[in-house]
Amino acid sequence: MLDRLITEPQVEALKSIIESNERFVVVAHKNPDGNAVGSSLACMLYLCSLGKKAEVVLPNAFPDFLKWLPASGDVVEFDGEEERALQLISSADVIFCLDFNAFSRLGAMGDAVAASSAVKVLVDHHLHPEDGFSVAVSCPAACSTSELVFRMIYRVSSLDALDLNMSQAIYTGMMTDTGSFAYASNRKDIYLIVASLIEKGVDKDLIYRKVFYNYSESRLKLMGYVLHEKLKFIPKKNAALITLTYDEMKRFNVIKGDTEGLVNIPLQRKGLRFSCFLREEQPGKINVSLRSVDDFPCNTLAAEFFNGGGHKNASGGEVRDTMEAAVELFMKAVKAYDAQLTK
Ligand code: 5GP
Repeated sequence: MLDRLITEPQVEALKSIIESNERFVVVAHKNPDGNAVGSSLACMLYLCSLGKKAEVVLPNAFPDFLKWLPASGDVVEFDGEEERALQLISSADVIFCLDFNAFSRLGAMGDAVAASSAVKVLVDHHLHPEDGFSVAVSCPAACSTSELVFRMIYRVSSLDALDLNMSQAIYTGMMTDTGSFAYASNRKDIYLIVASLIEKGVDKDLIYRKVFYNYSESRLKLMGYVLHEKLKFIPKKNAALITLTYDEMKRFNVIKGDTEGLVNIPLQRKGLRFSCFLREEQPGKINVSLRSVDDFPCNTLAAEFFNGGGHKNASGGEVRDTMEAAVELFMKAVKAYDAQLTK
């Protein structure tokens, strides 16, 4: 019934790796989002259900609105628990690498994972995975890595192997990575998988509320401020920019996850094709989030101007400079992509 996104040889390789090893670590990209956290937890819970020893190790903290997820309290954060994280990485037989395509996406943890002698298994939906994985399940057609973890469990074991906790984590990843099934979500398989997750007991309405109706007061006030004061539409271009300085983040007591999704809001304006959010995480360290619609290639723009990458319609990068310099880069990018922004 489902397309065979994961090939038969990949399934056989995954089976053999899982069967013949005992200690597993699951890692995902830095600044983990719903998909990174959901896919990692589901993968770890699945491995544990097979009697394996498995831990999730993430590069840094994940948003509070994901802290209800099953087993999320057991996640080891490298940023804060470095010694334990390194010990787990160095003693692992197998490292599952989820939701990233290059070790650099693991931040400070990347070198340790790349250097580890463990068998490395990639499960990801970004384009162009780098070398260094024993098995690379790289499927850009998938809506999310969580979808791929569902497929892995289904093919390596069976639907019976999937329990409610794994299903909740997978659903959360699929929902958050598609903007609640608003983009990257036209394939019918997605809904066959969602139906299976609901059969397992997932309450999709409740998960929506837990994730999106769980904001802090500071997040709501920040949204008002951003929309009124900080959102700029670029004249005669279908592009928008939001900036938030380090001082503003402090003023609004911004906590992890508070800025999530803000970059999508400008796309609600009629005709807008490209939205950029520049967030100064630390003085002189600016996180870049890019979103677009249709064929506007955020990922090539991210690589050209912001030392980053990602998907065609959702990408990111970083600027190590002042906010003024980052805004200047954005304006250069808008000029370079003028033809696609004046349509
Ligand atoms: P976000 O804006 O949510 O931080 O990131 C959106 C997407 O862009 C991520 O899912 C990831 O695919 C990609 N991305 C974000 N930051 C980076 C980066 O620094 N480098 C690369 N290659 N991709 C990134």
